[in-house]
Order: sequence, then structure tokens, then C-alpha cells
Amino acid sequence: MFIRRRKTRQVTVGNVRIGGDAAISVQSMTIPHPSDVTATVEQIHQLEQAGCELVRVAVPDMEAAAALPKIKSQIHIPIIADIHFDYRLALKAAETVDCVRINPGNIGAWWKVTEVVKAVSDRGIPLRIGVNAGSLERHLLDKYRYPTAEALAESGLNAVHALEDIGFTNMKVSLKASDVHMAVDAYWIFAHQSDYPLHIGITEAGTVLTGAVKSSIGLGWLLMNGIGDTLRVSLAADPVEEVRVGFEILKSLELRHRGINVIACPTCGRVEIDVVRMANELEKRLGHIKTPLNVSVLGCVVNGIGEGKEADIGIAGGEGVGILFKKGKLDRKVPMADLMDTLIAEVEVMAKEKEAQ
Ligand code: SF4
Repeated sequence: MFIRRRKTRQVTVGNVRIGGDAAISVQSMTIPHPSDVTATVEQIHQLEQAGCELVRVAVPDMEAAAALPKIKSQIHIPIIADIHFDYRLALKAAETVDCVRINPGNIGAWWKVTEVVKAVSDRGIPLRIGVNAGSLERHLLDKYRYPTAEALAESGLNAVHALEDIGFTNMKVSLKASDVHMAVDAYWIFAHQSDYPLHIGITEAGTVLTGAVKSSIGLGWLLMNGIGDTLRVSLAADPVEEVRVGFEILKSLELRHRGINVIACPTCGRVEIDVVRMANELEKRLGHIKTPLNVSVLGCVVNGIGEGKEADIGIAGGEGVGILFKKGKLDRKVPMADLMDTLIAEVEVMAKEKEAQ
């Protein structure tokens, strides 16, 4: 299926372009309070290692805002300040960060928004309008009685139009709800009335399993319909998992080709190796590789090599011995105890060779 992406304007966050013809980027959010600079920077480094392209940091107070320069000086990806309620936090954060996210539902009086717009305009950084079903403006709740997709889209469109009226267009928009239908419908409505780039996500999606499923359905549907310029998968988990799931969604739709794609058989009565452990270990130990490579872990040789012929490289369990294969052809037999390390070493070499081409 060919995915025709919606034509959107482009904004630039640090060195990452969002919208237009830019690749759909994957972002995440840190967990520690930013005043714990060491823990925040360490988490951002883990996210960078996993491929995260933009990181958002909550700025709940002035102490957090004051810590931003120290954090920014130690990281390599653009940083976005997440602001609720207090516009003064946005003003302080805007001195440092690459983008500021505000929520039109809780930032308050319009003059406060214009102050934030002045601050981001002075530094030439974009604003993210982050509409959330949990904090819609009072007049929209009065009009729709409770949060709906229409109310979310209207909130985003109102904010966009009001900002355009004061000459500001350097923005992207998100319309988040934890209800998949509501979020998807809101993005759909907005996308048909505006060409600003969209940050897509299902908020408070849940644990790794439920959150990944909800996000795959919601974001997957939007992406298949060409909607979405950057994404965050929200999980109640280590944010590295958010990045992994985000890339898996994009890779499944062939919208991004990054890193290792692990193909693992479901196993059956013929299985000769611990496929589940090995596949998980592979994903962890090869998470730093950016070169797209298909790597197979197959339980046995009966169907193994044939089933793995689409893979660049892979292993299959033999009788007491492991089989290493490349492009569907037997490469060599490897003692079981060395199978994992051998595969990882071979993948590292293959990735370097492919990168050099
Ligand atoms: Fe079963 Fe072997 Fe196929 Fe895995 S590769 S599902 S172990 S037949």
C-alpha cells in the first residue's frame, strides 16, 4: 500500500525538520525532575542511543527552567520544554530550548500567550500547541458538554487562527486523548482544515503492552492515511521503550528504515534454541545500530533457513549446534554457546560495511 503523506508546512526544531518532506521523527519525554540534571542527562543519553530524535522535558517550576541550560549543554538532540499553567516558565525556558510546548486550555489569558509568542519569535524557535482532552478550554466544554474529537480539533484550530492573526505561523499542533477513537477523529478533522504539521500521539496509553497496541492502532491508522509528522508513543514505562515502539510502528508501515528489524519465529515443538530470549537480547544489544538490517532468529533448521530468506543475516537452531545464515544461505555452523555473540559480531560488521557503501 502506498502511503500518500498529507502536505504540511515545515518547522525546524534544533536540527530536526518536521513536516513537509521531512522523515517522520520519533520523540520521547524524560521522567526525572530537570533539577536532577545528572539523571535527566543520563536518560536523554539512553534515549539518543535508542534513536530518539527530539526530547521533551517537563518544566513544572522555575528550578526546572533554570536547569535547562545545563541539560542542553550535555545532550545532542533538540530539547522541547513542556509548559502548563504558568507562562513565565515558558518565557524562561524559551531562552534555552529548541521548542516550547504550551497547552491552550490551561495557559490562561491571551496576553500571556502573546508574551510566549514574542519570546519564541525572538529566538526563532517554534511553538507546539498541545491540546489535551483532559484540559480543554471552559467555553468548549460548555459547548460540547464533555471532551469530544470535535472539541479537540476546534481548540487546535482556534489556537492556530488566533496565532495567525498576530502574524505567528512557526508552530506544530497535537490533539491528544487517551481514547483512540477520539484522538484519531480529532486529528482527522484538524488535518482536513489546516496544513500545520502534526505531532501525533495517544496520551496515557498505558503499560508497554496496552500502550503499544493502542498507539499502533491509533497512530498506525493516522499514518496509513498520511497524517502525522512527528510522534510520541506515551507509555507507563522506561521512555526508551517509547522510542522502540515508535520506530517499530514507522518501520512496520515502511515509513522509516532504521536499525535492526528482528524477525523471530513464534516457535513450535521443533524449536532447538531459546528464540524468545535471543530475540529480546538482540534488540537490546543492537539498539544502537542505525543501518537498516533484517536479522532472523529461528527455532530450527527444518523451515528455518527458508523462513529466514528475507533476512540479511540470521541464526537457526540445529541439533546441538547453531546455524548462521546470510541471505537465506548457510554460512557456517557455530557452537551453541557462541551463537549469540557470533551473530552480534557479524551484524556489527555487516552494518559497518553497509554504512560505508
Ligand atoms: Fe517451528 Fe522451526 Fe518454524 Fe520456529 S522455525 S516456528 S521452531 S518450524
